[in-house]
Amino acid sequence: MSDLRISFEFFPPKTEEGREKLKNTREKLQAFDPAFFSVTYGAGGTTRDTTANIVCGLREKGVSIAPHLSFGGDNEEIVLGLLNRYKDAGVDRIVALRGDMPSGMGSVAQLVYANELVDFIRRHTGEHFHLEVAAYPEIHPEAESYDADIRFLKGKFEAGANSALTQYFYNPDAYFYFLDQCEKAGIDAPIYPGIMPITNFTNLARFSRNCGAEIPRWLKYRMESFSDPEDVKKLGLEIVTDLCETLLEGGAPGLHFYTMNQVGPTADILNALEITSQK
Ligand code: FAD
Repeated sequence: MSDLRISFEFFPPKTEEGREKLKNTREKLQAFDPAFFSVTYGAGGTTRDTTANIVCGLREKGVSIAPHLSFGGDNEEIVLGLLNRYKDAGVDRIVALRGDMPSGMGSVAQLVYANELVDFIRRHTGEHFHLEVAAYPEIHPEAESYDADIRFLKGKFEAGANSALTQYFYNPDAYFYFLDQCEKAGIDAPIYPGIMPITNFTNLARFSRNCGAEIPRWLKYRMESFSDPEDVKKLGLEIVTDLCETLLEGGAPGLHFYTMNQVGPTADILNALEITSQK
């Protein structure tokens, strides 16, 4: 497992307490020697400054860090301004997305497909950035069809993306089947599975409904039968560790963790997998 690529995703905290917590989380997770950390972006510009400030602040400390970026409702000038700021700060990786408009902003602006953003970044900054894009083993909820979603993923690579990070899932077959279909469609770039640790099941179930990630029926029933949150965490750790093991044994090139800005759940999985200090 020596070539395994590990990465950790954060969201920009809104409070001083949240910022302190993130600082601690980042420092602790650094021990796993990730290839990079990434920071999400609120389409519609809702986190434009906070995402950029966290990213540039960490970059100054030498941390390998990638901002998520989308047009949202922004114009080319704003996006170009951000790209130049990142480039000047020494950032060399971006997660390029269409994004989702926060509720209430839906009709304010047209969303720009991720392939167009990838193309825009390549036209304006050449090969400076390594570009990650999103992929959906259980298929994006708005996709016209399974094949159309894969075709549009291919379009992102044709526009210049280098690799993909997936939406989280709990059924490894969905990922392996998806990889096969991508290969058949001529996609040969690495597709890193996104891993969501399970801590609070009610929140996870709500979030999953919105983003189209499926929670297996048996897991839902088992989790809902627990009254002690510790039981949820214990089974969550077991299930997600097994999932990671299956993915890595099946040839996944690495793991991308949705940390939710917490150390424990992600570190526990990596420790259970006995993954320490690898790229
Ligand atoms: P696209 O690749 O543009 O696809 C969107 C939909 O349109 C799909 O249904 C696709 O089939 C279809 N499509 C794609 N291209 C075309 C085309 N050219 N013509 C017609 N149809 C097309 N959201 C945020 O707001 N902020 C974040 O920081 C964020 N980070 C994420 C990180 C990861 C790893 C993942 C997996 C998702 C993340 N998301 C984030 C969620 C993501 O923005 C949403 O899932 C969004 O709805 C789709 O973004 P995308 O980049 O996959 O879009």
